[in-house]
Amino acid sequence: MVKFLDLHKQYLGIKEEVDVAMQEVIGSSAFVGGRFVAQFEEDFSAFLGNGAITLGVANGTDALEIALEALDLPKDSEVLLPANTFAATAEAVVRNGLKIVFVDCGEDYTLDIKDLQSKINANSSAIIAVHLYGQSACIEEILSLARENRLRVVEDCAQAHGATYRGQKVGTFGDIATFSFYPGKNLGAYGDGGAIVTQNRELLEMCRKIAHHGGLKKYQHHIVGRNSRLDAIQAAILSVKLKYLSQWNARRAEVARMYHKGLEDTSLILPFEREECSSVWHLFVVRAPRREELRAFLKDREIEVGLHYPYALPHCEAYCHKNYVRDTNLRNAVVWDKEILSLPMGEHLEEAGVQEVVSAIREFEGI
Ligand SMILES: *Cc1c(COP(=O)(O)O)cnc(C)c1O
Repeated sequence: MVKFLDLHKQYLGIKEEVDVAMQEVIGSSAFVGGRFVAQFEEDFSAFLGNGAITLGVANGTDALEIALEALDLPKDSEVLLPANTFAATAEAVVRNGLKIVFVDCGEDYTLDIKDLQSKINANSSAIIAVHLYGQSACIEEILSLARENRLRVVEDCAQAHGATYRGQKVGTFGDIATFSFYPGKNLGAYGDGGAIVTQNRELLEMCRKIAHHGGLKKYQHHIVGRNSRLDAIQAAILSVKLKYLSQWNARRAEVARMYHKGLEDTSLILPFEREECSSVWHLFVVRAPRREELRAFLKDREIEVGLHYPYALPHCEAYCHKNYVRDTNLRNAVVWDKEILSLPMGEHLEEAGVQEVVSAIREFEGI
C-alpha cells in the first residue's frame, strides 16, 4: 500500500505543537481576526520575502475572486489563464463578470508563452499565471508580455508555496498573488484557508475591505463587501506548519529525484524542473500512453494515484460557455488530459514506498 498523501502521519510528527497552538486560540477566544491571524500573516510575509504583505482569507478560491475584484478590471474584458488548472482559477474570472481566454500549456505544464502571446488583444486585461504542480510559470516572459500590453498579472500560487524562479519566491512577481491552504496543498490547514499577497499596500487594503464587509472598521461599509477571513485556529496551525514547510518541500524534491532515477528508462514522460526554477513538487505528474491500463495496474497493487486534471477546463460543462469563454483553440492541454497520471507525492513517502511505485511501473512495462 502506497498512499498518495498521508496527512495523519504528518500530524503525528507535529502533534504536540499543533495541539498547544489550537488550545491557545480556544483558551484566548480570539476566534476571528486577532493575534493568531496577524501572526501568521506576518510569518507568511517573512517566508516569501521581497516586501510581500499577506492577507488571510477563507480559501484559495476566495483569494482569487477578491484579488481580481480589487484589480478593478474593465467589465467584459478578457483574462488569459491556463486550460489545465483547477476550476477555481476560472471561477474567479466569471464571477467577476470577466471573460475567459484559455491558453495552452507547454511541456512543463505551465502557460505556453507563444500561445499566450497570440491570444492577447486590445480587450485583454489580465493574465493569471498558475504555478502548476509546484513549479513557477515562465514568469519573466509573462511579466514582459504584461508590460508591453498593459496587463495585470495575478499569480495563482495554490500549488507552489515556497517555489522559486531565479531564487525569488513565487507570489512576489505579479501585481497580486493568491495561495490556498486546503489540507492537501504543500502548506495545508486543517480545514479551508487561503491568502492574498502583494507588495502594494493600497491594493491589499482594498482586498481587506472587500473581504471584511466593505470596510476596515466594524460597521463602516465604504463599498459592498463580503465575508472571507482566515479562521484563527487555522492560522495558528499554519504558523506551526510553516516552520516545517522548507524541510517538507526538500523531501518532496528527494522523492522526485528517486522517481527520475527509477523511471528514466521507461516509456513514461517525466515532469522536469526548468533550469531557472526550483519546484516544490506539489504533484509528480507523468504522461503514460496506456494511462488507463497503468492506472488499473497500480490500483491493483494498492498504489494510490490521481488525475490532475481529468479534463482540460474547456471540456468541462461549465467552461464551454460562449457567454464568458472566448477562445479555446488548444493543442497540448486537450490531448494530455488523457495521458497524465499523478504518482504518490509528499513528505510522507519513505524510500521503500517510492521503490514500490517504481517497481510496479517497471513490471507493467516488462522491464
Ligand atoms: C487548490 C487550488 C485553488 C483553490 O483553492 P481552495 O483553497 O481549494 O479554494 C485554486 N487554484 C489552484 C491551482 C488550486 O490548486
